[in-house]
Amino acid sequence: MSETMSQRPTRIVVDLDALGHNLQAIRSHVGVPVMAIVKANAYGHGLVPVAHYLQAQGVKQFGVAVVEEALTLRRAGITVPVLVLGGILGRQVTQLIQHDLEITVSSLDKLRKVEAAAERLGRKAVIHLKIDTGMERIGVHSYSCGPFIEAAAASTWCVVKGVYSHLACADDPASAMTLAQLERFQTACAHFDRIGAPMPIRHLANSGGVLHFPQTWLDMVRPGIMLYGVLPDPDAHRSVELRPALSLVSQVVYFKVVKAGNPVSYGATWAPAEDTHVITVPIGYGDGYPRALSNRGEVLIRGERRPIVGRLCMDQFMVDLGPHGSAYVEDDVVLIGQQGELSLTVEDVAAWADTIGYEVLTRFNERIPREYIGGQVAR
Ligand SMILES: *Cc1c(COP(=O)(O)O)cnc(C)c1O
Repeated sequence: MSETMSQRPTRIVVDLDALGHNLQAIRSHVGVPVMAIVKANAYGHGLVPVAHYLQAQGVKQFGVAVVEEALTLRRAGITVPVLVLGGILGRQVTQLIQHDLEITVSSLDKLRKVEAAAERLGRKAVIHLKIDTGMERIGVHSYSCGPFIEAAAASTWCVVKGVYSHLACADDPASAMTLAQLERFQTACAHFDRIGAPMPIRHLANSGGVLHFPQTWLDMVRPGIMLYGVLPDPDAHRSVELRPALSLVSQVVYFKVVKAGNPVSYGATWAPAEDTHVITVPIGYGDGYPRALSNRGEVLIRGERRPIVGRLCMDQFMVDLGPHGSAYVEDDVVLIGQQGELSLTVEDVAAWADTIGYEVLTRFNERIPREYIGGQVAR
């Protein structure tokens, strides 16, 4: 794989065995099939390699956000069902059906569009009905979904494989919102029984649901972030033992002494009180490493935690080793992951940057090469 041939010292290392461990942990926790959510480049872990690995682990359903992600999976030889979770436009429907992709139908109007396209192609469309139980994003409101469900169940050209909704507050075990959403969802699903239509696969739980709300597991669960070993909310207790799959590492590219009082980097926001040793690390916000870590973040080098000093630049940033700290060019620098006894997590980076783990992971872009370890699978 050309990506792994990169000479760049900065890289993301994905531990496929950790991914496999998390999948297995989720499966034995919930006891129902898992729709593996691999949107946004598999939360930054690399869509195609992750999907190949998970398919080999027996995952029978993928979920992505946009049509292009689904097409990438098909082109890469992923054969299991792929559901596009996001809202779709009429012009995208034909392509979805032609590539045997499952469609989220989130209104009566979209149902009609999918039916028309399927009839034109002479090929049935596999759909999942989206019910809005309180997220107010996409979907037919649960309190008015009767006619929608009837129309879908009666459709000649659409096969209703699933019915689902999305939880707004499941990362908070104390929120009453989740059980209220569940109840609305159950009421919506009851329409199938009422009209004597077969019950499709009911799915509701994201990672928060998997972790905190067993009632939401139903027929299938849709974990995303926890599959990668990151918690939706770092304060939540861990009902499932997870292993972070992603490490972000780089190497020292420069070492120097900065004299007392001489400021470091753009804006001259930091200067040492005494002469100190400073290294430069070749990664920056142009890679998706947050600029908000300026004067806030830490890295691991030579088995110690050291602070990022001065503004983080587009392609590089500086770290203070202290007056007696030593390091050599090419020494490993860990930005996320373990070094010796110490570790830095996605959750740590998110806290320093005042954001959530989801955003930290999905901002890492294609300039950072991905490397895969573990996983006894040919890729
Ligand atoms: C992203 C997404 C998920 C996964 O959410 P996590 O919080 O990462 O587990 C599940 N369902 C839908 C509809 C999503 O958009």
